[in-house]
Amino acid sequence: MRIKLWGVRGSTPTPERRNSRYGGNTPCIEVRLENGTLIVLDCGSGLRALGKSLLREFGEHPIRGYVFMTHFHWDHIQGIPFFLPLYKKGNIFLFHSVLRKGLELRGAVEGQMVNPYFPVDMSVMGSVRHFFDLDERPIDVNGAIISSAPLYHPQECVAYRVDADGASFVLATDTEPGSPFHDRAVRELARGADLLVYDAQYTPEQLQGEKKGWGHSSWLEATTIARECGVKQLILFHHDPDNDDVFLDGVVEKARQEFPQLVGAAEGMEINLPGGWIEQVKFAEGFERRRDRRYRIQLPVRVGIKAASGAVESADGVSQDLSRSGIYFLTPAEVPADDAFELEVVVPHELTRHGDLAFRFTAEAVRVEHLNGALGLPEPVQGVAARRLESEEKTPDQEAEMPTTASTLPRRQPRKA
Ligand SMILES: [Zn+2]
Ligand SMILES: [Zn+2]
Repeated sequence: MRIKLWGVRGSTPTPERRNSRYGGNTPCIEVRLENGTLIVLDCGSGLRALGKSLLREFGEHPIRGYVFMTHFHWDHIQGIPFFLPLYKKGNIFLFHSVLRKGLELRGAVEGQMVNPYFPVDMSVMGSVRHFFDLDERPIDVNGAIISSAPLYHPQECVAYRVDADGASFVLATDTEPGSPFHDRAVRELARGADLLVYDAQYTPEQLQGEKKGWGHSSWLEATTIARECGVKQLILFHHDPDNDDVFLDGVVEKARQEFPQLVGAAEGMEINLPGGWIEQVKFAEGFERRRDRRYRIQLPVRVGIKAASGAVESADGVSQDLSRSGIYFLTPAEVPADDAFELEVVVPHELTRHGDLAFRFTAEAVRVEHLNGALGLPEPVQGVAARRLESEEKTPDQEAEMPTTASTLPRRQPRKA
């Protein structure tokens, strides 16, 4: 199975530069089984990016997702209104939670969207949603055995364990040590796990003092449990909003002295179990982007946009700013704000003397500005900031192998004024 972290921050999103390496989105973890089954643990603000990624992956095919909620504090549900696959007809989502002591699951999930908290309620969502109350017995989801354990936390919380594809993964977040019943339960659940993702919001010192009773844990408790329970690898999770990248680097360094096989949870991290190794930390893309060198260079670009009919239409534009991971360009075409498109950047033959040199890649708009009348341009034009979507890094050799002739994208008819 493959585990991907989409949100790792505790309590509230922290979209601040100082947190950009570990990430500012609240908890959301995707688990993908070898047979393709999609399991989502918690629906914090990280869920939004997962939704966009799923739409890209599935295209017109229906999505079926099994969602497990640890509890209903804001930081674990606030991504739901922004999870686009929920709005799409044909998709099916099965929400599960354990022992909410009478709280109605549907209301707990959808209540955040009632008037006046959100402009539309969940009735506008085209997907089919089912809600399941579980007891403490394990359930089988397409071959994955999912079990749970109660955690010590205000309004209660549960940990989940997924056993599938010859591996085991445990998420135990929003938990405070000190209750013998709960301490025993979380240890039983974590026993022998290939990977444990555990709440390390506070320092051991904070947990002894000012933060005692707030419902969270520390890296020291995380490493203690990992050692006692024979856990193979550990990820420190639910970072405090006030703990920035530099602080967290220090926490990880200290914690590694107690349990070397650990990392701090970072947005975008992915691990394959069994066998995958968490040392391969992939940091948030925003951070990588800012580190990139930017070139202010105007080159012809061609945008290939997939129409509803499936046909690809192309339009011309001109780049303003280029980097390894993104581009800003101007185009008269309507570029979809939430969809992937093909981009081709052309170095003209006058410069190469060996024919047009074209770089093609798939991109996603992160910002579309309507610059009508701006910049002294006669025609309406969009300014589009987009990032490259290829996950594989290309080596210089591979770059050289990219097509060296201008593309075969069909040309879009020029727009009539
Ligand atoms: Zn939380
Ligand atoms: Zn909580």
